[in-house]
Amino acid sequence: MTIDVLVVGAGIIGAACADALAAEGLAVTVIEREAIGSGATAAGMGHLVVMDDNPAELALTAYSVALWRQLVAVDPKPHEYSCCGTLWIAADEEELAVAREKQRTLSEHGIACELLDAASLYAHEPQLRPGLCGGLRVSADAVVYPPKSAALLLARAQSRGAKLRSGQVSAVIEGGVLLADGSEIHASIVLVANGSASVQLLPELPVRPKKGHIAITDRYPGMINHQLVELGYIKSAHAADGDSVAFNLQPRPTGQLLIGSSRQFDVTDKTVEPAILARMLAHAASFVPGLTDLHVLRCWTGLRAASRDGLPLIGPHPSRPNVWLATGHEGLGITTSLATAQLLTAQIVGRQTQIPIVPYLPARFEQLGR
Ligand SMILES: Cc1cc2nc3c(=O)[nH]c(=O)nc-3n(C[C@H](O)[C@H](O)[C@H](O)COP(=O)(O)OP(=O)(O)OC[C@H]3O[C@@H](n4cnc5c(N)ncnc54)[C@H](O)[C@@H]3O)c2cc1C
Repeated sequence: MTIDVLVVGAGIIGAACADALAAEGLAVTVIEREAIGSGATAAGMGHLVVMDDNPAELALTAYSVALWRQLVAVDPKPHEYSCCGTLWIAADEEELAVAREKQRTLSEHGIACELLDAASLYAHEPQLRPGLCGGLRVSADAVVYPPKSAALLLARAQSRGAKLRSGQVSAVIEGGVLLADGSEIHASIVLVANGSASVQLLPELPVRPKKGHIAITDRYPGMINHQLVELGYIKSAHAADGDSVAFNLQPRPTGQLLIGSSRQFDVTDKTVEPAILARMLAHAASFVPGLTDLHVLRCWTGLRAASRDGLPLIGPHPSRPNVWLATGHEGLGITTSLATAQLLTAQIVGRQTQIPIVPYLPARFEQLGR
C-alpha cells in the first residue's frame, strides 16, 4: 500500500492533521507509540483561547477557535465542549491598562469582549479575593477535554480511510521512518507531529520542553463560571527561562476545577514536584481563597513543546526533503490544532491558506538550513 503522508504521533496535532489530510482523499497512516492523546494532550487544560501577544498568534488562535466552534456546532457533548468564556483578571491599575489594550486589539479583530470594573468582576465571579481592579471577559473562548477530542478526530480520520499503527519511530530516514523494532515504513511525506519528542527525531529543531503541573479537584458545580486567568500570566508564560507559576482556573462541565499552572524549562522528568505544586496551589488560592477548602483528587504534569519564538512550526522542513513539521505548539496546541491541520493540509495539496502562512513556516529558523 502506498502511503501519501505518514503522521508521527497521535496527540491532538497528529490527529487533527490526519483528519484534515484524509478529508482531502490522501492515503494517511498515523503511528503512535503509546495511547492516543496520551502526551501533552492528556496533560493540557483544554482551554480554547484567543491570545494576542503578537499578530501571528492572534491570527492563528482566532482562526482555530472559530474552527472549534464549527466542529462542535452539531453536537458539543462528545468533546465536552463548554463555552464558558475567559475572564482575564486585573489585580492592579497597571494590569487594567493591559486589559484595556487587549480589549482594543481583540475588538479590532472582531472578537467579542467586555471590560469589567471591580463591581462587575465580582458579580461574575464572587469567589475572587477582595481588592482586585477589574478584568476583561472574552465570551467566545471555551474548553474541551483534549484526549477525547484527539480520539474523536482520529476516529473521524479513520472513517475517512486513515490507518493507525502502533510503534515507536526511532529515526526519520530517506523516504520514510525506521521503527524501534528495526522495520521501516515508507511514505511520500513524513509529518513529524510528536510534540516535545520531535527533537529526538530531528535534533536541529528549535524546540525545548517546558514542564507544567495541573491539579484537579472534586466536584463543586457553580463555584466559578469562567476560565479565570490572571493578566500577570502573560509575563510568566513568556519568560525565556526559569521556573514560574501563574493563576489559571477552569470550571469543567463535570463541576470539577482544573488548577494550573507552572512552567519549567528543559525539565523532562514528568514526576510531580511537591515544591512547585505547592507554589502553584498557593498562588491560585491567593486569587480564589475558597480553593484551600477543596479536595484535590489528582495532580499530574506534561511537557509543552516550546519553540524559540513562541509560534509553532507548520510546513516543510527546509533542508530535509519530504519531511514536514507540525510541532512547537507550546501552551496553545489544543487551541491551535485545527488551524494547524488546515494550514498544513493546504500547503501539502497546494491550496491558498486561510491566513498568511509565513510566520509559522519552519524555514524562518536559519538553523534548519535551506
Ligand atoms: C500543563 C499543560 C497545560 C496546557 N494547557 C493548554 C490549554 O489550556 N490550551 C491549549 O491550547 N494548550 C494547552 N497546553 C498545550 C497542549 O497540551 C499541547 O500544545 C498539545 O497537546 C500538543 O499536542 P501534540 O500532539 O503536538 O503533542 P503530544 O500530545 O505530546 O502528542 C505527541 C504524541 O506523539 C507520540 N510520540 C512521541 N514520540 C514518538 C515516536 N518516536 N514514535 C511514535 N509516537 C511518538 C506520543 O506518545 C504522543 O502521543 C497545555 C500543556 C500542558 C503541559
